[in-house]
Amino acid sequence: MPDAARVIVVGGGHAGIEAAHAAARLGARVVLLTQNAATIGTMSCNPAVGGTGKGQLVRELDALGGVMALGADAAGLMFQTLNLGKGEAVRSPRVQCDKHAYRRVMRASCESRPGLTVVEGEAAAVWTDGSGLRGVTLTDGSRLEARCVVLTTGTFLNGLAHTGLRSAPAGRAGEAPSVGLSASLRGLGLEVGRLKTGTPPRLDGRTVDWSKLRRQDGDAPPQPLSFRTARLEVEQLPCWLTRTTEATHAVIRSAFDRSPLFTGAIKASGPRYCPSVEDKVSRFPDKDGHRVFLEPEGRDTPEVYANGLSTSLPEDAQAALVATVPGLERAVILRHGYAIEYDFCPPDQLTPGLETKAVARLFLAGQINGTTGYEEAAAQGLVAGVNAARAAAGEAPVLWDRAESYLGVMVDDLVTKGVDEPYRMFTARAENRLRLRADNADLRLMPRAFALGLLPESLLPAFERYREAVETGVVRGGMGPWTEEKARAQRATIAAYAHYIAREEKAAAARRGWESVALPADADWRRAGSLGTEALQKLARVRPRTLGQAARIPGLTPADVQSLWVLTRAS
Ligand code: FAD
Repeated sequence: MPDAARVIVVGGGHAGIEAAHAAARLGARVVLLTQNAATIGTMSCNPAVGGTGKGQLVRELDALGGVMALGADAAGLMFQTLNLGKGEAVRSPRVQCDKHAYRRVMRASCESRPGLTVVEGEAAAVWTDGSGLRGVTLTDGSRLEARCVVLTTGTFLNGLAHTGLRSAPAGRAGEAPSVGLSASLRGLGLEVGRLKTGTPPRLDGRTVDWSKLRRQDGDAPPQPLSFRTARLEVEQLPCWLTRTTEATHAVIRSAFDRSPLFTGAIKASGPRYCPSVEDKVSRFPDKDGHRVFLEPEGRDTPEVYANGLSTSLPEDAQAALVATVPGLERAVILRHGYAIEYDFCPPDQLTPGLETKAVARLFLAGQINGTTGYEEAAAQGLVAGVNAARAAAGEAPVLWDRAESYLGVMVDDLVTKGVDEPYRMFTARAENRLRLRADNADLRLMPRAFALGLLPESLLPAFERYREAVETGVVRGGMGPWTEEKARAQRATIAAYAHYIAREEKAAAARRGWESVALPADADWRRAGSLGTEALQKLARVRPRTLGQAARIPGLTPADVQSLWVLTRAS
């Protein structure tokens, strides 16, 4: 066991990996405590990184020194730019990965990071005493001490997996849930809620009739996801497209009475934008088909992900419905789909630095905050890891503005509005999406990453040459991973969008007015007789830092915000 760590990160998923790397990069001594080191970086659902909104987020994470995009480049099977026919603002990179290779790369990156030690074990409770946070207590009764703790436990807290009428405790398929931590969090004054998500069956690719499917190839040539990957040499694998049929929908309808979604066995809300196939059939009875993408899960496995067939119907119904889909008549299911319910902590209990308001130096990141998706989890991991390392060193938190990044949009949405369903990123969530593009995340965020110490100094000269080439059109010498062609393309995009971005900037400047009105953290808003009970409760829970943030709290009326403004002027 290492000496007392400065930061303990609990969980080796996507949030935990980035939190541990970021904290170690800032010089903290970090322990990554996870149930099983072999499952570090497991992709519980589709092994794909990026996509609409998520691609922007992962590029931002990369610009801030994160490891997810580098991992996807190393493990990539197919590289695509989504929405290529539309404007740059909504173009999003997406990489289908080899899930085994991704896990290997991520585990190796954790085990080789100086200052980061991977420890196998399970946290049973957050350890506090009269002096505040002390560390974590493990299920074997031992204790690990640290200045700061980051919890990134994903879907594992009191996880309950459902297939048909059967349910069993699980963190995800084949893995035990984490029991105990939720009670510990409640004991510390945190509210705990329940959400659900689901996954489709995995098929044996050797039993699929590919001749009946439409083939989709990756970009030629493939574009790396990471700004720091200079060249990709990869033999890409295709994805394939088919559709459900009326026969599929009939099978699904006939099994509604054995679906935990409809029997009432599942009580929690799931991701509205990533519905199960039985949800789609129930909600859109007039649709005669839904798209199904068959996506490879690796080079050395026949497993194929049936994207679009997420389901928690019983196994026999899953087999019957798969057999009605063109090309899948003889397909063998290697692993059945299932849904999982799990505990989460409503994120409006966090500061914008992702620290709990109830317990100083305790941070939460990832699915435990009510989000869904690897990229959302990873980006929060970086925020929490940076701030845990800084808190351990007695430094102020680093905060992110909605106007400068999707990362800022997500964190602000979470801590200001909370969630009532699993939160995923979309480009439509950002006010400034013409500026917050995937292609310019390096220009937007790397200067701050260098200043914070999140990127190696050795990259700075090449980045500065690129920045100068974009600003002036003058190229001086080689630019490392950035090419002259990229600088030219960036200049062309900036010129094409200049007019619209100027309009966006004007609106952003108007919003900044309210953002610059600070609200005192210890304010007693009851003094304002004009604020109703609901507004007072919301203000006490969210504790907004600015008038702008207060205005975004659901339930606060324009009149409430006006009262706050008058009060801040009077004080
Ligand atoms: P995870 O990746 O779940 O990692 C949690 C880590 O914490 C694991 O390493 C675990 O071993 C460890 N851990 C847990 N408790 C403890 C403890 N007490 N002590 C030590 N270690 C602990 N995302 C989508 O975008 N779309 C989908 O359709 C989708 N479907 C999903 C379906 C299923 C069935 C599951 C399980 C997940 C799905 N996801 C989906 C979600 C995606 O997998 C997660 O959003 C993402 O993995 C969250 O990352 P995380 O780091 O928060 O947690």
